[in-house]
Order: sequence, then structure tokens, then C-alpha cells
Amino acid sequence: MIPFTYERAKSPAEAVKAIASTPGAKFIAGGTNLLDLMKFQIETPTHLVDIRGLPLTTIEDSADGGLRIGALVTNTDLASHPRVKREYAVLSRAIVAGATGQLRNKASTGGNLLQRNRCPYFYNTDMPCNKRVPGSGCSAMGGVSRSLAVIGTSEGCIAQNPGDMAVALTVLDATVETMDAAGRTRSIPIADFHRLPGNTPEVEFALEPGELITAVTLPPPLGGSHHYHKVRDRASYAFAIVSVAAVLQKDGTGRVAFGSVAPRPWRVKAAEAALPKGPAAVVSAAFEGATPTKDNAFKIPLAERTLALVVAERRV
Ligand SMILES: Cc1cc2nc3c(=O)[nH]c(=O)nc-3n(C[C@H](O)[C@H](O)[C@H](O)COP(=O)(O)OP(=O)(O)OC[C@H]3O[C@@H](n4cnc5c(N)ncnc54)[C@H](O)[C@@H]3O)c2cc1C
Ligand code: SF4
Repeated sequence: MIPFTYERAKSPAEAVKAIASTPGAKFIAGGTNLLDLMKFQIETPTHLVDIRGLPLTTIEDSADGGLRIGALVTNTDLASHPRVKREYAVLSRAIVAGATGQLRNKASTGGNLLQRNRCPYFYNTDMPCNKRVPGSGCSAMGGVSRSLAVIGTSEGCIAQNPGDMAVALTVLDATVETMDAAGRTRSIPIADFHRLPGNTPEVEFALEPGELITAVTLPPPLGGSHHYHKVRDRASYAFAIVSVAAVLQKDGTGRVAFGSVAPRPWRVKAAEAALPKGPAAVVSAAFEGATPTKDNAFKIPLAERTLALVVAERRV
């Protein structure tokens, strides 16, 4: 057990100040990822700033017809919100495909976006891992890599982003709203939020140290037929091997993103444009330049079959 101190913040401004004034401090929301990482001593914060008391728990209609989702809205509340179920159903379906009811009751919107990867070596502190200890090496290269990424990887890291919600948010062109230690706010398009590993696999998100997610905004609804299909090793309590989030229109066009195949939700607009030509054309364009391992090359044909299933289920 590594000692740490704890405080509850009452406002976003107080939360960012508390983080900035204590080296090694971290925010804690639902704690469903951070506490596990602390138990394994992968994350060793000196101080926790509990943000659950902040007034970031509402889902509001925005002036442009979209939605503004507070960073502390739980996964359960977001998935069951009437407008989300009716007009952003891809998001509702992706969330309920993740984790379990108990976890979704605790997990927050901001924390979900910031969940760390699930590479087995990241969790094994006896093994080298560039993400956990920069410069130590990547045990997954030549090791067990079945669940890991097939595209967007680097020589330093081949971990995949395992989340479900973020794949749907990518299809919906969501924006992440933040506040930094000086109280300045900014908007980050979801497509830029998760970083590719390159030479710095330890930097996974486009956030500055101590930056607080305050909300996620959605543009006006797209209409169409909404789908989230997750392929996993067992029916619940398992991360995706491959997932497909899609919003399909009557004329055969639409949007599509793949999950658990890359270090971030994988949406390629040129591939999406190939939807009227069929799943094979989409997958061929989306995975052009992929560098799978021998253990996870199956993910590319699996992505094609999963997209074919989704297209066959189109309801408009
Ligand atoms: C057994 C198990 C199964 C799971 N299965 C799935 C699954 O199938 N699909 C899936 O998508 N997920 C799954 N998850 C992951 C789960 O969705 C995440 O643990 C959860 O969403 C994290 O949210 P949280 O609020 O608990 O975050 P926390 O654990 O509180 O925080 C996570 C990180 O985000 C930071 N943070 C939190 N909120 C903010 C904020 N507002 N601003 C800045 N930083 C912040 C924290 O400092 C921390 O680094 C699973 C988790 C477990 C334990
Ligand atoms: S793939 Fe990434 S997370 Fe996994 S061992 Fe390599 S560097 Fe670590």
C-alpha cells in the first residue's frame, strides 16, 4: 500500500487548483479504473481529488439542437436518457455493451473516456512496458497480442483502446470540453482526443496535466439507423475483440467506426465513403497499411463480418 492523501472538491475551479498545487495528484470520479490501477501500483498518485461532488451531473439540450453531457453523468444515466435512447441510440447501445450494471452505475462519462488500455503486460509490473515505464520496451512485441491493435500502432506500443462509449462518440462527432489549472476552457474534437503511440506511448490523451473534463457535447442528431455490435470472448464482463459503431442512412451512406482494433476508436472518412459499395470495400480502406501480428490478424476479417452483420440489420 502506497500512502496517499484525499480531498473532495466543491467546484471545477477548486478541483483544478487542488491538482495543480500538489505534484503527483490525480482526479478520481467513479474510481472503477483508477482504484484497480492503484492496487496494482501501476498508478501511484500522491493525492486524490474526488470530483464526484462537482455540479457536472446533468444532460442538457444545447442551443444548436444537440446535447451537453456533464463529465460526471454516470454511464447508466447516459445510456438511459430518453433523448440518447431515441436520437443517439448508437451511444446508448455502446454503453450498455460495456462492463456490467454495477460498474456502469459508478463509471462517469469523463472517466470512461480516460480509461487506460488492457494490454496484459501493462498490468504485469514484472514485464517491460513502454506505456507504464517509458523506454523499458514492449513485451507484447513477439508476446501475447491476440487482443491488441492491428493499425495505428508504433514500434513502441501496439495496445488497443478497449472502450465502447468512445467508439460511438467518434461516430457522432462529439467534442470534449475541458478546464485547465488557470480556469481556461477548450474544446477537443473526439477524433483528436486519443493519441496514437508514436514515440511516446505513455501519452494516451490530448489532455494537459491537471486538465479537467467538464462535459462532452453532441451535435444535432443524425437520424438514420443506429448500431453498435461488439464481438467478445464471453457475453458480458468482457472487453471487445472487435466492435462496430454505425449510423446508416436509407440511401446506403452513413458513418462507421471500429473499436478495439487501434489505439483509438478507428474512423476513416474515406472508408466510410465506401459504405454504398459494401463492407469489404469499407474494411479494405479502413485497414489499409495495417500491421497485425500473427495472433491478431483475424481481427481484420472479423471487422468485415461484423460490419456485414450491422449493414444487414439496417432499419431505414
Ligand atoms: C471489470 C471491468 C470491466 C469493464 N468492462 C468494460 C467494457 O466492456 N467496456 C468499456 O468501455 N469499459 C469497461 N470497463 C471500464 C469502465 O468503463 C471504466 O473503468 C470507467 O468508465 C471509468 O470511469 P470512472 O468514472 O470510474 O473513472 P476513474 O477510475 O475514476 O478515473 C479514470 C481516469 O480518469 C481520470 N478522470 C476521471 N474523471 C475525470 C475528469 N472529469 N477529468 C479529468 N480526468 C478524469 C482519473 O484521474 C483516472 O485517471 C470495465 C471496467 C472493469 C473494472
Ligand atoms: S503494447 Fe503497449 S501497453 Fe502493451 S506491453 Fe507494449 S508498450 Fe506496454
